[in-house]
Amino acid sequence: MSNIRVRYPPSPTGEPHLGNIRTALFNWLFARNNKGKFILRVEDTDRNRLVQGAMESQLEALKWLGIEWDEGPDIGGMYNPYTQSERLGIYKEISDTLIKEGYAYKCYCSQERLSEMRKEYSKTQSVVGYDRKCRDIDLSKLNKADENSLHVVRFKTPLEGKIIFDDLIRGEVTFENILLDDFVILKSDGFPTYHLANVVDDYYMKITHVMRAEEWLSSTPKHIHIYNSLNWKMPKFAHLPIILAPDKSKLSKRHGATSILEYRKLGYLPEAMVNFLAKLGWSLDAQTEKIDISKLINSFSLKKVSKSGAIFNIDKLNWLNGVYIRELSTDQLAYRLLAYWKLFPPFQLPLNIDSELLKRIVPLISSRIKTLNDAAPLISYFFTNKVKYEKEQILQKGLTFYDVRDILEKLYSKIISIDNFKSDIIETDLRNYVAESNYKTGQVLGILRVIFTGLDVAPPLFESMEILGKNHCVSVISSTISDLKAN
Ligand code: GLU
Repeated sequence: MSNIRVRYPPSPTGEPHLGNIRTALFNWLFARNNKGKFILRVEDTDRNRLVQGAMESQLEALKWLGIEWDEGPDIGGMYNPYTQSERLGIYKEISDTLIKEGYAYKCYCSQERLSEMRKEYSKTQSVVGYDRKCRDIDLSKLNKADENSLHVVRFKTPLEGKIIFDDLIRGEVTFENILLDDFVILKSDGFPTYHLANVVDDYYMKITHVMRAEEWLSSTPKHIHIYNSLNWKMPKFAHLPIILAPDKSKLSKRHGATSILEYRKLGYLPEAMVNFLAKLGWSLDAQTEKIDISKLINSFSLKKVSKSGAIFNIDKLNWLNGVYIRELSTDQLAYRLLAYWKLFPPFQLPLNIDSELLKRIVPLISSRIKTLNDAAPLISYFFTNKVKYEKEQILQKGLTFYDVRDILEKLYSKIISIDNFKSDIIETDLRNYVAESNYKTGQVLGILRVIFTGLDVAPPLFESMEILGKNHCVSVISSTISDLKAN
């Protein structure tokens, strides 16, 4: 066991986004690769943005992908509690220390004043920060009531100099202090801001590596100021590349689902999803696409994380998912499908599916589906006595309804005479019939495909007939003949 400790600290403000979970995965892989710990923390200090159930969705997404945590809000750990709203006392204490030591100050400016100020500033400046009006108030000159009147606490950012730090992915990064604001660390409701809570928790939870999305890069100099003013040892920083749509724009809903749980609903396998996410910004080498979880853990390193944006390519995910599906055994795929349908019951299938029957069907479709969601419409004909189709669908090219009836009548006696109703025997008998008749193979088999499956493109016919059973096939043919006669 090493002393490496990384964390994934989502804010429960919405669905677990693909980018968030990619961050979680990289942290987890890094921890597992280094035999370190992966910590889950809840950053719920922005009370206005809280969304009911959002943290549960985060946990569900991580569990679905097999990203298990070593310490966290639900299982606890050495550094309890792991939910920021339960740690307010610690932040207040640190904020008081920072004020006492002259690194932070109370700001009494009203919201009205701040928005007036911003409005004025925005006319002439591109960066609109706080004008530092309260920075030099001498608290000893205020009476207690005034000192404790409504206020926030701001960090006293140095007005000159710069922050230089080494990012494990980006190399040396520099920020001019003058461009940093006197940012708020404690809000008037007593809750810390992200900056303070994040630093305090990373420090107290002994985090060694902070690995987060690129969008947080500009927060890092602020965090470094807090670490320095408290004389705290800093973790190492690594900012992961942004995830972009194929057209290099920001990934959004219009490029497909952005919530990870949506991908589960669409029928992707967790192992394919993990493989796909791992490749968003990291690679094993120039060509390998399929990398299973144990190989990911063994080979993950920050050295191979790229600086430039990672392109999200849904075709690659579909391809990978197909590859992982085809690698499953029949029993495994049947089990996955049953579990998937339990969670998302498809309207095409009955609620209770016989698993033994399903195991016979699965080999017919495993190479034909890209997602678990593709399966139900392809196999619903095994679970109904009468499939639906348009009358014209049976009218194969070059045939009249009279021909169709003629074919079905001949097939009726042919099929009824097959004793051993196995796919290879069915195939031989039907092909013999075609050879003796004036019809083409495509026409005859096309009719059967439509009346048995209702589909224009379906799983293999003879194997399907074997599973459907002789009685079923005979009765479908005879009822189709009756229907044709009636019309
Ligand atoms: N709570 C932040 C988020 O929602 C965490 C950022 C960080 O990792 O520092 O992503």
